[in-house]
Amino acid sequence: MVKQTIQIFARVKPTVRKQQQGIYSIDEDEKLTPSLEIILPRDLADGFVNNKRESYKFKFQRIFDQDAKQEAIFENIAKPVAESVLAGYNGTIFAYGQTSSGKTFTITGGAERYSDRGIIPRTLSYIFEQLQKDSSKIYTTHISYLEIYNECGYDLLDPRHEASTLEDLPKVTVLEDPDQNIHLKNLSLHQATTEEEALNLLFLGDTNRMIAETPMNQASTRSHCIFTIHLSSKEPGSATVRRAKLHLVDLAGSERVAKTGVGGQLLTEAKYINLSLHYLEQVIVALSEKHRSHIPYRNSMMTSVLRDSLGGNCMTTMIATLSLEKRNIDESISTCRFAQRVALIRNEAVLNEEIDPRLMILRLQKEIQELKDELALVTGEQRTEALTEAELLQLEKLITSFLEDQDPESKLEVGADMRKIHHCFHYLKKLLTDKKIHGPSRAPFSEVKDQVNQGPSTEEEYKKLREILQQRDNEINILVNMLKKEKKKAQDALHSSSMDRGEPRRSQSSPFPPGNPEGLRTLPLSAPTQAQDSSVIQYRSSLLHRKTGVREEMSLGRQEAFEIFKRDHADSVTIEDNKQILKQRFSEAKALGESINEARRKIGRLKEEITQRHVQQVALGISENTTVPSAPDPMEEKLRSQLEEEKTRYKTMFMRLKALKVEIEHLQLLMDKAKVKLQKEFDAWWAEEATSLQVNSPPVNLFNHVKPFPQTPESQHKRSQLLSNQRQ
Ligand code: ADP
Ligand code: MG
Repeated sequence: MVKQTIQIFARVKPTVRKQQQGIYSIDEDEKLTPSLEIILPRDLADGFVNNKRESYKFKFQRIFDQDAKQEAIFENIAKPVAESVLAGYNGTIFAYGQTSSGKTFTITGGAERYSDRGIIPRTLSYIFEQLQKDSSKIYTTHISYLEIYNECGYDLLDPRHEASTLEDLPKVTVLEDPDQNIHLKNLSLHQATTEEEALNLLFLGDTNRMIAETPMNQASTRSHCIFTIHLSSKEPGSATVRRAKLHLVDLAGSERVAKTGVGGQLLTEAKYINLSLHYLEQVIVALSEKHRSHIPYRNSMMTSVLRDSLGGNCMTTMIATLSLEKRNIDESISTCRFAQRVALIRNEAVLNEEIDPRLMILRLQKEIQELKDELALVTGEQRTEALTEAELLQLEKLITSFLEDQDPESKLEVGADMRKIHHCFHYLKKLLTDKKIHGPSRAPFSEVKDQVNQGPSTEEEYKKLREILQQRDNEINILVNMLKKEKKKAQDALHSSSMDRGEPRRSQSSPFPPGNPEGLRTLPLSAPTQAQDSSVIQYRSSLLHRKTGVREEMSLGRQEAFEIFKRDHADSVTIEDNKQILKQRFSEAKALGESINEARRKIGRLKEEITQRHVQQVALGISENTTVPSAPDPMEEKLRSQLEEEKTRYKTMFMRLKALKVEIEHLQLLMDKAKVKLQKEFDAWWAEEATSLQVNSPPVNLFNHVKPFPQTPESQHKRSQLLSNQRQ
């Protein structure tokens, strides 16, 4: 058992403005615990009538200042936790801080650069690397990804669902067994045998998380996301299984509603916006007070799910993310205060060992046999599994006479034999179903129902058609607006500079030319690739297809608008950059692949030469009637050292190729995500345009063929063109 308090770390997000410095200082001189001092600016400090302190000091295990890299965060915070998970202990890392302080950046990573990847991808990489190295045990890894929003849990990894809102995802509920263990019903567990498979799952969850988020439900700031790696290990032949879970938690934004004014007690009387964080605080307070017997875990789903991580069987680490700017001073102080409380909580992690269920079954089978023998001894008759034909017949007769008996007091007596009791119920059920199936009223009833149903279905179709018509009209209006804007832009450009006239328009081409980079996916790797979880990959591509490449589903007009939107979108630069990097990596990988093949051929040749040389030497020995010279053959020595060199070269290149493969996969995921984001933003923009058109234009009366928008000859032409396009 390992007893340990929750480890707390602080990470300060880089500030844009340099003058924000001076708000805090980090003191790392004290040998054991570094401290962070937050200095209240004079103007703010004066406002606190009853609170004249000008600085606050907080101790942390370590404090990572603005320039800390993701690599350092992983090495110092996540790696030790991953190591204890590999040893069989549960682990949790959670990021806590106000919105935009860097929680997601720390836990998952940034969406632009490979070097920005956060704790989750790095931990996965580390764990799979370790599993590969250790051949003494059989390991199994599963992944789950849960989002909690408004006290409701959602499974982010269910591939059967096409999420467009959070509610589309399967709902997860918490169940508690009599031993107070928490079980999550409906949360899917996915096996991952390689780092790539696990990364794909992370991507799938993050994409669902992004798609499900709308401006109305700012899910990322209001919801908690828990990515869990479930690891089990077993020594070959042993019956004991070790299980450990690693929760990587991105909490909701911790901002509070401040009650300013009343006595200036800004820093003490603030209330959470997020109720479940309020319950988290209650749990933390209860745990940090000695002799508290009741801990209110059950108040919220998040505290129920993380029950073990807080004051239980787990090694837990908290990262307080801080955005130390003047306007965030109070939030930063409350984050640090929360961390100080958390640091008081003591956990007791134990090795989670279980007996293999197969062994358990064998033991239970033996016990059943013993009990049967005992029963036979007591009752004086040997019982078999099934009843005999005669016994069955006798029973059925009993049931029939029981049913036919008009006396309401009559009883069906079969004796204390569970086999007979079960058979009675089965037989009764059968009688009931038979009666239902052959019942007289069923068929005509359903016929009548079908006839009644015909009315509404035409009504519905009619409504649907009307909606489609409305959509098309909106579409045309949006396009006409865009066309006007484009025309105006072109005219402006013409007026403003005649020098620019000859210049081609910036990147008319789509940021995703066909076949590229998707076409690059068929990576010419000579490295052995492990089987991937095909269902996830298939789902991922179909998801992307739906969310990005929905060209077949989009009407032509909408496609056209999408192309223009895409061209002008700020992200297209990042996408372009990443595409360039990806291209580079691909050609690097291709070149490496070729060099590896070359090295492999060379190794083969060298081996051949050595064998030949050997045979020659032996032949020479025989012909000269001498034994093989005991002195080493210098030629063979040389060949051997060349072989060794070539092997080392091969190994180095192979490792590099493997690393490249992971990087390429990651970059592809980033790009895929960017595409989904673009599509989502386009959809939002499109919807907004459509509503604003509806508001601004007179009501559409489609059935009198009234034109719903003012028409210029140009727009009329465009409209008829579009309509004829759509009919094609
Ligand atoms: P949160 O999840 O706490 O709301 P984010 O992680 O989304 O915050 O961070 C907000 C923004 O700041 C993002 O654009 C993110 O990329 C950036 N950011 C956060 N922390 C860092 C950091 N340490 N270095 C560079 N950028 C960061
Ligand atoms: Mg976030």
